[in-house]
Amino acid sequence: MTKHSRLSRRGLLKKGAVVGAAAVAVAGAKAPAHGEAPADAQAPAVVTNRLFKAWISRGTGRNRTTLQDVRLRPPTGRQVVVRTEATNLCYSNSALVLGLQDPPPATGAGPAGNALAAGTTNMALIQGHGGVGIVEAVGPEVRRVQIGDRVCVSGTPQCGSCYHCLRGRADVCQLLGRNLPTDFVPIAEMRDGTPVYANSHIGGLAELMVTFEEWVVPIVSKAPAVDLGMVLGCVSVAGLGATTSGTLAQVLPGSSVAVVGCGPLGLSAVQGARIAGASTIIAIDPVKARRDVASKVGATHVLDPNAESNVIEKVRSLTAGPTSRAWSGGRDAGGRRIGAGADLVVEAAGVELATPRVERGPDPTGILPVQQAYEMASSGGDVITTGLIRGTITLPAFLFAIGGVSHHGGQAGGANPMRDIPRFVEMLHSGRYDTKAMVTRTVPLADMLGAYEEVIYRQVVTTIMTA
Ligand SMILES: [Zn+2]
Ligand SMILES: [Zn+2]
Repeated sequence: MTKHSRLSRRGLLKKGAVVGAAAVAVAGAKAPAHGEAPADAQAPAVVTNRLFKAWISRGTGRNRTTLQDVRLRPPTGRQVVVRTEATNLCYSNSALVLGLQDPPPATGAGPAGNALAAGTTNMALIQGHGGVGIVEAVGPEVRRVQIGDRVCVSGTPQCGSCYHCLRGRADVCQLLGRNLPTDFVPIAEMRDGTPVYANSHIGGLAELMVTFEEWVVPIVSKAPAVDLGMVLGCVSVAGLGATTSGTLAQVLPGSSVAVVGCGPLGLSAVQGARIAGASTIIAIDPVKARRDVASKVGATHVLDPNAESNVIEKVRSLTAGPTSRAWSGGRDAGGRRIGAGADLVVEAAGVELATPRVERGPDPTGILPVQQAYEMASSGGDVITTGLIRGTITLPAFLFAIGGVSHHGGQAGGANPMRDIPRFVEMLHSGRYDTKAMVTRTVPLADMLGAYEEVIYRQVVTTIMTA
């Protein structure tokens, strides 16, 4: 037993920050080819005095995010330094980046607080949800990746040894919750010595992402960075995870899928449903431009929830199948509910962080779309929720108790990063996942802030930042 093996997970995360760089090699050392590295560890490569540009969010109000030159701290332990190639400007981060919302206090922060960077107001934090890039340096304990590897810095970690990972639920890996201010370690310093931290141990809105090896997935691909940044963004992984990972529910060929909310997550779920072979794919979104993209990437029907007098009944009628006759393969619920309902419903609407400058949905809290999603599902069907919503959900008790609908509140759509992310790359390589229809805008690092304005007001589908 080494001293390290007795440390808690939280201790291991913190250790990366406090252990000195005892063994320092020259940065840029030739990377061994795949398969040449020893099985246990590799020589550390530490970049010293490296300056890089990073968007730092700190304080409150509209000007809380500024572009700064910061100095990289030497990576230690299981830290990995990744040169950012591309990252998606995730909607869930937008209010914190733009200062339209301040981080909540740390006290009482539960899982929702984690997602909102509770208690980080006065920390110099690089926001962002991971991305795609090239490994520049690794700490001495890193085994998963090597210098020069192209990697996805995943929004979801996979340690591979916690209870959740071991039972096939890496989407809720124990490390996911290690996301409070006390868990963070400094990765860089500002000019005045202020320590800089990375949101969720990943960051993204910077030239470098400094993370831990549990958050990186090696990808072997020569695809353009923007395409990889799209298909491997947190939202796309969740949409494809919900429909193709099989962790939470199965999409069988010929089945029916409804997707409520068609931002990049919902549109990725539409694509995943198509890739999985669903025959009826119903995309529901108030924004016409998003419904148009849904039609391009695989939806067989698109619905405007503001225009439909009863969107639940509409979905149930579209999924009724060729017959409702008894003894002949009828699909309805025996008359209690009209029509059949979708075999799988993916909720991807989420909460409204600012009033959109395009068509608004029926409920800014995101609660109504969840209720509707539940009632759109077939008896015996599944509902996967993915949106970040607030409030309390009310459902018809009879339906909830014995209606036969199974709800899955997974994270990242149940995607298992090390297993599924390489598959998503293959979906890109084979042309099955369409990035072109999804990326509405590409911007360089310097233009991030203005581009995020368009994201929060829902004037784009996806914006990819390149660094
Ligand atoms: Zn995200
Ligand atoms: Zn784990």
